[in-house]
Amino acid sequence: MKSYLITGGAGFIGSNFIKYMLEKYNTRKDIKLVVLDKLSYAGNLDNLIDIMNEIKFIKGDIANRELIEYIFAEYNIDYLINFAAESHVDKSIKDPQLFIETNVLGTQNLLDISKEFWKVDGSDYRAGVKFLQISTDEVYGSLEGEGYFSEKTALAPNSPYAASKASADMLVRAYHQTYNLPINITRCSNNYGPYQFPEKLIPLFVTNAVDDKELPIYGEGKNIRDWLYVRDHCQAIDLVLQQGKNGEVYNIGANNERTNLEITKIILQLLDKSDSLITYVSDRLGHDYRYAIDASKIKNDLDWEVEYSFETGIKETVQWYLDNEDWWRRVQSGEYQRSYQSEKKL
Ligand code: NAD
Repeated sequence: MKSYLITGGAGFIGSNFIKYMLEKYNTRKDIKLVVLDKLSYAGNLDNLIDIMNEIKFIKGDIANRELIEYIFAEYNIDYLINFAAESHVDKSIKDPQLFIETNVLGTQNLLDISKEFWKVDGSDYRAGVKFLQISTDEVYGSLEGEGYFSEKTALAPNSPYAASKASADMLVRAYHQTYNLPINITRCSNNYGPYQFPEKLIPLFVTNAVDDKELPIYGEGKNIRDWLYVRDHCQAIDLVLQQGKNGEVYNIGANNERTNLEITKIILQLLDKSDSLITYVSDRLGHDYRYAIDASKIKNDLDWEVEYSFETGIKETVQWYLDNEDWWRRVQSGEYQRSYQSEKKL
């Protein structure tokens, strides 16, 4: 029985990962999932409601030293998967401080406690333990022409969000180099799928289009992102946990480059809505032009392959938002937070 601490598990990718693990493994004999989440505006217990009795949920901050120590001591953690982050670039442009507190100092706190609890005799680590940092292709900066980000590309983050994630990656690397802490870092491209907070492009545009509201595209909509279906991402994370070589970074991407305008038109077509809903708004400050991932390392070394084509993934995603209107209406109205803000104990 392996014990997993999943931080940020009430968010988009974390909650999908938990569901993926519960489908794949048996909680009575294979895995125990401890989920820690601060329940910031992006954390939503509705994402976990149907599986609450299969996990141990703890509300709290990754930067809280006492709490993390308690969790390590109580649950004998084998794997720590750090999804917890402030994740919205636009918010980081307005308020960078919070991004440093959670993404940098919070990660450093997790590393520090992992280092203490996983030691066997002061110098060595328990076999099988691992710290997995969920990072992003945004740490590499922007591609202006041809080419792809490989794991060897120099880090050149452009937004405060990307800079905070790059700093965290550097700390994870440093804890490995300095203290031998067993680690992996994964850097994925833009994810899409169920349970994504409707501030991000795909869920925002799907939900706006359903309501015949405008779809505000930055600049001319020419920026290119490389889209990865969240289910494929979850499978890759599990693979890296089980088979990733100690200390290595793995890029995860599905070779699905699309301009924001293309994505918007696909959504409108799937919903049978008119292109006239598109409006062009002034570009984001320092907007990265293109991200594109070279995922050949994880494919060659760990035999990873994507299961979903973009056409299948986007259809399933749009259908999920149509089938789960209650979920996103509760997010839009703020209802999802009111239901647990008053609770003292979770
Ligand atoms: P999200 O914003 O949906 O979820 C983040 C979760 O972390 C939320 O549940 C939030 O409550 C929690 N959280 C925030 N601060 C916390 C703190 N101090 N302590 C404990 N919990 C805290 O984000 P996501 O899209 O699921 O992203 C998960 C991870 O993947 C992030 O680290 C992000 O940088 C990375 N990532 C995301 C994408 C993407 O396309 N979504 C792409 C690349 C990398």
